[in-house]
Amino acid sequence: MNRASGIRLGKILGIPIYLHPSWFIIFALITFSLGTQFTAQHPSWSPAQHWVVGIATAILFFGSVVFHELSHSAVALRYRLPVASITLFVFGGIARISAEPSSAKQEFNIAIAGPVSSFFLAGVFFLISRVVPGNEIVLATTTWLWQINFALAAFNLLPGFPLDGGRIFRSIVWGITKDFRRATRYASGSGQLLAYLMIFGGIWQFVSGNRFGGLWLAFIGWFLLNAAQESYAQVEVQSVLAGVTAGDIMYKDVPTVGRDISLSDYVHEVLRTGRRCHIVTGAGTPVGLVTLHAARAVPRDEWDTTSVQAAMIPIDKIQWAAPTDPVLKILERMQREDVNQMPVLDQGNIVGIIGRDSILGALQTRISASNLSGQSAGH
Ligand SMILES: [Zn+2]
Repeated sequence: MNRASGIRLGKILGIPIYLHPSWFIIFALITFSLGTQFTAQHPSWSPAQHWVVGIATAILFFGSVVFHELSHSAVALRYRLPVASITLFVFGGIARISAEPSSAKQEFNIAIAGPVSSFFLAGVFFLISRVVPGNEIVLATTTWLWQINFALAAFNLLPGFPLDGGRIFRSIVWGITKDFRRATRYASGSGQLLAYLMIFGGIWQFVSGNRFGGLWLAFIGWFLLNAAQESYAQVEVQSVLAGVTAGDIMYKDVPTVGRDISLSDYVHEVLRTGRRCHIVTGAGTPVGLVTLHAARAVPRDEWDTTSVQAAMIPIDKIQWAAPTDPVLKILERMQREDVNQMPVLDQGNIVGIIGRDSILGALQTRISASNLSGQSAGH
């Protein structure tokens, strides 16, 4: 999901809260099912009462989801981990904590705060339902709310990444093995298993007549499957590229082209050498950067009459990297600035070029190397 997509509701604890457009689907469904349920259970209420109480209960439920996400966030903030946003969407809520916890204990405490807060809310609503006598509306609302918060806490404790239970599971494995990558692999594996069980359970429910519930379960399973695979890939990339700098994997030779040659000549040069990014020189000094990508932005029939200088990125607009920059940071910048290559500058001299292709190559080499060493260690 995109960061900070949706409607901004406001800020709590300094964290912006957003409503993703998909949230309206679940809000409508819950309000509808509550209205229908109250109509069946409380025929003495007026139609307006059914729906007003339905809407109010649904809003209190989403308040409970925000409370759950805020509890994760409050613990993360205590560990000085930045929380970028909380977003409510069709499958619940997500607190975007912008940094990974630095210890198993931190991860455990951040993860468990959510289910604990939902159990707490379940207890509060349960007490209100018992203490306030005779009021049918309060009783109906609080009964539904304590049950749903209890279910929310229990569901989140399922031991599959990226659910809270999966994070708790990962933190325990991490604490025991001291191996974050292996812990993530286990937690993501159990998350995928859980997701498949939900998808098959959902299909089975659907076939045996529970159409809506079955479809819903299968959808949640499918969502969890994607999330488990995605978060695993992310951690894999991070752990493999941790500690690798631009200087380690950059191309050390920097191909140059003169600024006066035409784009057709430049494209020939790219085809001949296989390099897709060149420093443009004028009178012996660098004046810009040209890439195959930049050449392609010019219509083909103008290649003969357009100079490299007209298509290049001028030197003051180039995104530079330093040899000591971590590759992960460079990858983030490349994504943010939408560039594929960065020349590497050391004390005013261009010492190399780093591209997405060289980062990908380093990633592949290191993953196959670490799989090899993992296998030999296992035998
Ligand atoms: Zn949670």
